Amino acid sequence: QAATQALLYLDGVNVSFSGFRALNALSLVIEPGEMRAIIGPNGAGKTTMMDVITGKTRPDQGEVLFRGTHDLTRLDETAIAGLGIGRKFQKPTVFDSHTVGDNLLLSLAGPRSPTNLLFGRLRPDAAERIDEILAVTRLGAQRDRLAGALSHGQKQWLEIGMLLAQEPALLLVDEPVAGMTDAETEATATLLREINKTRSVVVVEHDMHFVRALGVKVTVLHEGSVLAEGPLDAVSADERVIDVYLGR
Ligand code: ADP
Repeated sequence: QAATQALLYLDGVNVSFSGFRALNALSLVIEPGEMRAIIGPNGAGKTTMMDVITGKTRPDQGEVLFRGTHDLTRLDETAIAGLGIGRKFQKPTVFDSHTVGDNLLLSLAGPRSPTNLLFGRLRPDAAERIDEILAVTRLGAQRDRLAGALSHGQKQWLEIGMLLAQEPALLLVDEPVAGMTDAETEATATLLREINKTRSVVVVEHDMHFVRALGVKVTVLHEGSVLAEGPLDAVSADERVIDVYLGR
């Protein structure tokens, strides 16, 4: 039941690196339309979990289902991206010597493979889509600036915009506010809430002010498993979570 109705369903996922359990019977359910924040101390398994969902790492054991039918453990990264799972890494990888508008145009040609950049067909509504993405990411005024001239925060938003061009049903975002100013952090929370009106989002983040601003259900990972889950206030009052964060 849970497996077939979930957007993303992980059950009993194990990943070992030379004998070390990075994920240990990890189970996680993301509902359609949900935005979830994933927190946890360094080494908790957050990156490994994202790697498993995107097909970068194959689990030793366990189930990873997308929309109840697609077994992600049997698909490669390209196939998983093609199902509508987009991932934003921590470091922005925009094309610095192209304008903001052209960066978005390039990503509308398809995922950033060399073939797509050279031969990708532009959709007929490309101009409209670019306007929409510029509005959501609040980069309208930056359209003709070189991406290399953007602030750190603006580059992150541009990269999120480039992912939106692929129309992902599920957007995975890795520490989006690292290195951002308070104002940029605030704006990123607003941006992700806006995106979440039409897409599901999973955000891995350390910054608790940001997680609070998102205002969504939180999953705490620890030693490769879920330690606690619920509203931020509830999990941050949980003795086990406090122990883990204080290293007791
Ligand atoms: P987090 O993102 O929560 O900080 P990670 O998923 O990066 O945690 O790492 C979980 C654990 O797995 C860590 O102890 C890390 O050292 C280990 N680990 C991650 N990737 C590898 C790898 N490729 N080889 C060996 N150990 C790894």
